[in-house]
Amino acid sequence: MKILFLDQSGKLGGAELCLADIAQPFQSTSLVGVFTEGTFPEYLRQVDIPVKVLADQPLQVQKDSGLLAGLNNLNRLIPLVTQVAKLSRHYDLIYANTQKALVVGALASILSRRPLVYHLHDIVSPDHFSPLNRRIITTLANRAALVIANSQASRDAFIQAGGQAERVHVVYNGFSLKTYSNCADAREQLRPGLLAEPTSSTFLVGQFSRLSPWKGQHVLIEALQYCPENVIAVLVGDALFGEQDYVQQLHQQIQTLNLEHRVKFLGFRSDIPQLMATCDLVAHTSIAPEPFGRVIVEAMLCGTPVVAAAAGGAMELIDHGQTGWLTPPGDAKKLAEIIKTCQGEASQSQRMVQKAQTLAQERFNLDATNLKIAQLLQGIANRSVTAKI
Ligand code: UDP
Repeated sequence: MKILFLDQSGKLGGAELCLADIAQPFQSTSLVGVFTEGTFPEYLRQVDIPVKVLADQPLQVQKDSGLLAGLNNLNRLIPLVTQVAKLSRHYDLIYANTQKALVVGALASILSRRPLVYHLHDIVSPDHFSPLNRRIITTLANRAALVIANSQASRDAFIQAGGQAERVHVVYNGFSLKTYSNCADAREQLRPGLLAEPTSSTFLVGQFSRLSPWKGQHVLIEALQYCPENVIAVLVGDALFGEQDYVQQLHQQIQTLNLEHRVKFLGFRSDIPQLMATCDLVAHTSIAPEPFGRVIVEAMLCGTPVVAAAAGGAMELIDHGQTGWLTPPGDAKKLAEIIKTCQGEASQSQRMVQKAQTLAQERFNLDATNLKIAQLLQGIANRSVTAKI
């Protein structure tokens, strides 16, 4: 099967890592078209997935943009759609992985008469999107032959916003299990570099996500002040979409709370499994519903206890008290309680971790995910061939 994958982002976020895993089995026949150069196309080249940068300037529409911003981009949109329509004639289907890719892919699919698949990685709700953008997403996605939602929460929000239920299939992100199983030595090697004064009693909490207000790094920083002095946090990730004001606020908050010696920023890293294995707890702290939450599953696969904000996809990943902990989004005091519980009850945490790891290996195995997606895509491709006969 020949697939033209489309993704708007030059940056390597969760949706892009997921797409790279899905595109891998199709690498000899397919192409990933991205709208801008950056770490994502670089990553695809490293893993031998064919990639083409389709535009020299990104489309400037944000999730909360209105009509005017959209219209201002028409001069960039039209050539991009024309290019994708022409390109897609060499492929069996167009697979849009992000919203701007959906806009371009949907218009191109009308011109080239290729079926459209949309991978929904977002919660299409007022927390994340303007009313106009919600309308655009659902209207265009309702033209797709198939919508793959990354969680039940994403599916429900899509339907609530006007998306048609019958075209949506939930497929959780898959993970290559071997990537997460070889981290036994990481703790010894990495830990000394992460802590200013490493002691055997230091309790290391890791937060792994891009620095952005809704990812809630400030909640973890606030929680630290309610925890013992030996609880230290590392923030792993960068401000991918220019959230420099928020980064400033985080530094200010750390200074105000006198926590400089207890918080370390590590920037964007590509050794996530090793870093997670080095932490005593992974904290997911989003203050708006998380569509899926790759970092939660990654922590489970690494055998590290995980606490997550109880909203969106996180609720489908963690069974509270059994495979991890859930706390109310934005509640720093509750988060601190869980950190102290995890710190104080090592044997309970260990039992939880083992259960979580086994379940995660069963539920989020990349081979199973890719098989399911291949079957769904083959069904669409077959339907399209039958329709042409
Ligand atoms: N990640 C990474 N390096 C970093 C921080 C995060 O590779 O420095 C990865 C992380 O391991 C996860 C993804 O980025 O696989 C983030 O996905 P998630 O679903 O948690 O959030 P998203 O970015 O999609 O909102």
